[in-house]
Amino acid sequence: MAEPDRASRPRVVIVGGGLAGLAAAVALSESPVEVQLLEARRYLGGRAASFEDPASGMLIDHCQHVGMGCCTTLIDFLHRTGLERHFRQDRHLDAFTREGQRARISATPWLPAPLHLLPAAARIGFLSWKEKLHTARVLWRLARYARPDDIHGPSMQTWLEQQQVSRRLQRIVWQTVLVSALAETLDRISVPAARKVLVDGFMAHRDAFHPWIPLAPLRELFDGPLRQWLGDRGVVRTSQRVRELEFKDGHVERVHLADATPEPVRAVILAVPWKHAATLVPPEVDALHASLQAAKELGSSPITGIHLWLDRPLTDLPHAVLLDTRGHWLFNRGSSLPHEATEVGHYYQIVISASRELAELDRDDLAHDLCEELFRIWPQDPRPRLLNFRVVTEQEAVFSVTPGASQRRPSQQTAIPNLALAGDWTATGWPATMEGAVRSGYRAAQVVLSHLELPATTREVSQRAAWLPRLLLRA
Ligand SMILES: Cc1cc2nc3c(=O)[nH]c(=O)nc-3n(C[C@H](O)[C@H](O)[C@H](O)COP(=O)(O)OP(=O)(O)OC[C@H]3O[C@@H](n4cnc5c(N)ncnc54)[C@H](O)[C@@H]3O)c2cc1C
Repeated sequence: MAEPDRASRPRVVIVGGGLAGLAAAVALSESPVEVQLLEARRYLGGRAASFEDPASGMLIDHCQHVGMGCCTTLIDFLHRTGLERHFRQDRHLDAFTREGQRARISATPWLPAPLHLLPAAARIGFLSWKEKLHTARVLWRLARYARPDDIHGPSMQTWLEQQQVSRRLQRIVWQTVLVSALAETLDRISVPAARKVLVDGFMAHRDAFHPWIPLAPLRELFDGPLRQWLGDRGVVRTSQRVRELEFKDGHVERVHLADATPEPVRAVILAVPWKHAATLVPPEVDALHASLQAAKELGSSPITGIHLWLDRPLTDLPHAVLLDTRGHWLFNRGSSLPHEATEVGHYYQIVISASRELAELDRDDLAHDLCEELFRIWPQDPRPRLLNFRVVTEQEAVFSVTPGASQRRPSQQTAIPNLALAGDWTATGWPATMEGAVRSGYRAAQVVLSHLELPATTREVSQRAAWLPRLLLRA
């Protein structure tokens, strides 16, 4: 069949060039539509962002992003766009207590999921046998928790207290995993959200917990090769803020840009953050506007990245999980020239999720306190010198997975036939992650293609749970 020329192709506009919009663009670029992606900022990638350090000219991520083996749709997206080779995949996690006791979490080849991590857990020296058995029992009860997410459901902290989990175990085990994965504190996390992390991320499949870590700054990935890839297949316009969608006869008719003539469209994918979507839809489009207003009320949580340059290396490990410390993860970003310094520094990044309490702290004190924590875990004589640091907080990094939050998350399909929604905050069943964003983008593209009576080009790839977790945990 002959390819339709560009002018006769139905024009689909994607508003927002974060991962959700990018995934939708990738999906649509494989179909006979004309894709236009409009992004307000200068760069693509949205919250998966980097900034240029003015002194060194280095691109630095606002905050290190990590995927996991269970992020199967994200992996599909990376594969389709050739970005997979810019990620490293590890097969283990190293965790350290504040005193420097280490545990290596890796899967045994001898046991099927969900038992594959048991030997590693059994070797953890800083938990007693009683604590390990109790944790296994509580994990089992959590995996079998069947109550749907609702506003009256208990927070994870309340639920753990009901299971008589000690404060020490809450801090060392539960908080470590859940606060990092969901960027929210235990007293705000819903039990179904916690279950999702632990079942999908650690129990359903033996590769699910493998960390996937970008090797290059995020902007280099999403505004580099991916922008090029999309530009070859459609139109990408950055620094284009959409002001409003114009509706007529129950359809989106035109897209109004901040400073250009309105552009007619056949369909639109709205892929902006949850706090912004409602502002682009007039109140007269009442059902849609109401659902976007409800989504706007989703709470949000901050994440802080603390970038440290030391004069000597601290550890050769590429990353480490920190237990019961102020910092949650350490990432080793190699050596580089730090900001306003002439000495080559060893660049480490600490991530602190749900970092509300840092707002009160002086940045110098924070950086020095974190160094103290690190030097206690990896003692050295003489101590490494802190050459420079930067503290970057994203205040609305993610939406909060509080009890009942899922009820505020709208479907990608809306009451307007030629308008779909995308974004990590739409209903995917995933927390605010790159995986959730990409899934939503693929789904939104499917909604639009189905409206245009065209076949789907991409599908979400769900992790295929191993037989035992399917049988035991309904994973
Ligand atoms: C600090 C931090 C750390 C994180 N760590 C991880 C992690 O380790 N692992 C993980 O999986 N996820 C992580 N996340 C979450 C992940 O970044 C997000 O879930 C994902 O990037 C969301 O993508 P999105 O496209 O849904 O939204 P966004 O990235 O917010 O994209 C929306 C886009 O819409 C644009 N826009 C808004 N209004 C308009 C308008 N009027 N016109 C045109 N464009 C507009 C915005 O500029 C933006 O680019 C982290 C997030 C942050 C902030």
